[in-house]
Amino acid sequence: MSLKIVPTPIGNLEDITLRAIKVLSSVDLILAEDTRTSGKLLKHLDIRQPMQSYHIFNEHKQVEKLVERMKAGENMALISDAGTPAISDPGFLLVRACVEAEVEVECLPGPTAFVPALVNSALPTDSFVFEGFLPVKKGRKTKLEQLKEESRTMIFYESPHRLLKTLKEFAEVFGEDRRACVSRELSKMHEENVRGTLSEILANFADRSIKGEIVIVVEAFNPKRTK
Ligand code: SAM
Repeated sequence: MSLKIVPTPIGNLEDITLRAIKVLSSVDLILAEDTRTSGKLLKHLDIRQPMQSYHIFNEHKQVEKLVERMKAGENMALISDAGTPAISDPGFLLVRACVEAEVEVECLPGPTAFVPALVNSALPTDSFVFEGFLPVKKGRKTKLEQLKEESRTMIFYESPHRLLKTLKEFAEVFGEDRRACVSRELSKMHEENVRGTLSEILANFADRSIKGEIVIVVEAFNPKRTK
């Protein structure tokens, strides 16, 4: 009886690990955020284990039953649409419930978007804070104000249609000379990493249609600078 958290590729299918394939091929049940999306990956890997949906809309209802099944002896794997489950994806509730019920939990190392974005940014990697998606409305301003003097490199997930708005807000709050990096489509054919000050990055994205998946990495507050 165990739960394995299995990271899956964030773009490039070759990023699945040998161990991820081995685990997914041997569990009794694969819990998937979207069974259609994961179905394609599993088919590509020739994995035929039973699959069940596990997503933010049913996770509260499912946790207890799943833990009971694992306690009764089933081995399960949790996957999300891309990257590491529980990182801006469902997973935390199930991990916590398993640990409370003394069901063994193991997260396999593997793909996630924020690590390559942080390293590609060329900003300090010794100390960083992962903020995931900023609140869209309520609490957004307060959060940004809290981060104004953050002393660690900051990492944000963002959707393409909100990128410009967010970069403008960052320039207003953090100052337009704050350095940053926008990583788009990591590990995919059209990957790009745009580095520079917030005003330079804004200028780069201003006149083009922005598509794909995005991570924004922002330099820490430097008290020696005025803003
Ligand atoms: N669990 C995933 C992980 O481990 O990174 C994150 C899932 S979250 C729902 C999706 C967000 O992750 C996207 O909106 C984007 O911010 C980021 N992301 C995922 N894949 C990416 C990629 N290939 N390039 C850039 N950002 C990516």
